[in-house]
Amino acid sequence: MPRIIQHPKRTLWVQSYVPEAIRGLFTTLRHFLRGLFKYETLPTIPYPTIKTPIPKNYRGMHRLLKRADGSPRCVACGMCAAACPARCIRVDGGESPNGQVEKQAVRFEIDYLACVFCGLCVEACPADAIRMDTGVTSFVHDSREKFIANMQDLSKAG
Ligand code: SF4
Ligand code: SF4
Repeated sequence: MPRIIQHPKRTLWVQSYVPEAIRGLFTTLRHFLRGLFKYETLPTIPYPTIKTPIPKNYRGMHRLLKRADGSPRCVACGMCAAACPARCIRVDGGESPNGQVEKQAVRFEIDYLACVFCGLCVEACPADAIRMDTGVTSFVHDSREKFIANMQDLSKAG
């Protein structure tokens, strides 16, 4: 059975458009003034002037940890690269001067254009050498190459 939808009656007030257009402009003006003088009451956040706090366990940019002597904790086992679903980690190892460990990373790169921030690399690491607790979540660069973070970037991050 067809359903008849009753449209509201268009009064002369609505039909003339002008009063409704003026009402709409007042709404715009109200929001404009609120944004100007009562900034903090707005339901939006004026990012990047104000940033929302990031939860402690939020996965941000990676951080490579160091040993007490300053050498990288990474033993270049490649477990993180193997676990990475985006194949965006490159790690090369070299001989470690520390007699306790055989190898250490001499090159470690993460391509942040491919990384999906899943955290599997952190889970896979047997040496607790990589974490994602820097709180750095915004990456803005002017070239694609700069999105590849190297060992220096990852060692100073956070
Ligand atoms: S967070 Fe996930 S995608 Fe990013 S480097 Fe680690 S394993 Fe790869
Ligand atoms: S960060 Fe961890 S898992 Fe990745 S190569 Fe280094 S030691 Fe292995």
